[in-house]
Amino acid sequence: MEAIYLDHASAMPIHPKVWEFAEPFLRKGFGNPSSTHSVGSEAKKVVEEARGKIADFINAEEAQCIVFTSGATEANNLAIKGAAVRNMAQGKEIGASAIEHMSVLNPMKELQKSGFQLNRIPVDATGIVSAERLSEMVSQETTVTSVMYANNEIGTVEPIGEISEIVHQRGLYFHVDATAAAGRIPIDVQKDGIDLLTLSSNDLYGPQGAGALYIKKGIKLQTVLPGGGQERGLRSGTENIFAIAGMGQAARIAKDEMEQETNRLKTIRNKLIEEIQKIDQAYLTGHPAQRLPHHVSFRFSGIEGESIVLNMDMGYNIQVSTGSACSSKTLEPSHVLLALGLKHEEVHGSMVITLGRSNTMKQIPLITKAVKETIERLRILSPLYKGDQS
Ligand code: PMP
Repeated sequence: MEAIYLDHASAMPIHPKVWEFAEPFLRKGFGNPSSTHSVGSEAKKVVEEARGKIADFINAEEAQCIVFTSGATEANNLAIKGAAVRNMAQGKEIGASAIEHMSVLNPMKELQKSGFQLNRIPVDATGIVSAERLSEMVSQETTVTSVMYANNEIGTVEPIGEISEIVHQRGLYFHVDATAAAGRIPIDVQKDGIDLLTLSSNDLYGPQGAGALYIKKGIKLQTVLPGGGQERGLRSGTENIFAIAGMGQAARIAKDEMEQETNRLKTIRNKLIEEIQKIDQAYLTGHPAQRLPHHVSFRFSGIEGESIVLNMDMGYNIQVSTGSACSSKTLEPSHVLLALGLKHEEVHGSMVITLGRSNTMKQIPLITKAVKETIERLRILSPLYKGDQS
């Protein structure tokens, strides 16, 4: 049975054109960009070229606004702790939407332990941040407010431009985690009014092990990783040349291919949603229209998400997810689904499909058949399933 991979939010294969571009740097591009000899200079050139490509991808003012990190988690930590600690004199309030990724919420909780006040901004039943509550919660003491461009578990895309205006009416900096959105929808940091923006290489079909933080020109952050002073002193440590070169090329390719690929995936997404919605007590999670073009997320009553994942994998060689791969180990109910106002017993049967380059229209009947049979089979075994409630 041929595998159908539907979990691109957790990990993506490297784009063949990225691999072709970056492979030589893995084989022989071993230089250290901080070395002054020619091998070092060559490595530095590679890093700077990649920086330029990322800046161009999000329309940053200049290449120097991009700081490379090891991934999105590190970029989120640098943005939040870096902005909050550096600007403590102005205030000790920080804010985040209730549906942020743990790599945003956990650094904020850590700051809370050292005396910062954390305001969690609620969302509506589709995951859209409440503009009213946001404007009540941001004050002159709020140094960093974080709202993700789009949510990885429910696919909802936030009205970032409007949120930026509200944040900047009183607060200081606006941080946006664009890990799930980048490469799927166009991002323009200047037009969107973003001060700090997180990107991940792998979510652009680049190699794992690289990420980036956009820092608006003029903004100063506290370093979270002191050392040899690389990346403007904000993120010390010898650069991962292969991953950085690959990330730059992935951003360039994403810019070129995004529109066409997005339209293709949207057609598959819409058909899948239409088909899965026919299943009894299947509820789409997230926003029905303001959603990522590759994102299909449902919850099914009476069953367990982990069983859906295992059944789909072992029975059909189809890989889906229950939500966030990063918190799947805890088996805790998803904080994202709870924030939508769902009850504990309603959030367990969640299934997330994130489409990618390998998915085609031809796979739709196989996927829908597998989902329907899986849900049916698990419900027969489930004491919690109450049958047709319509
Ligand atoms: N933010 C979001 C929205 C994510 O989905 C993820 C996971 N892909 C991260 C941050 C963290 O990414 P990483 O584990 O690559 O650091």
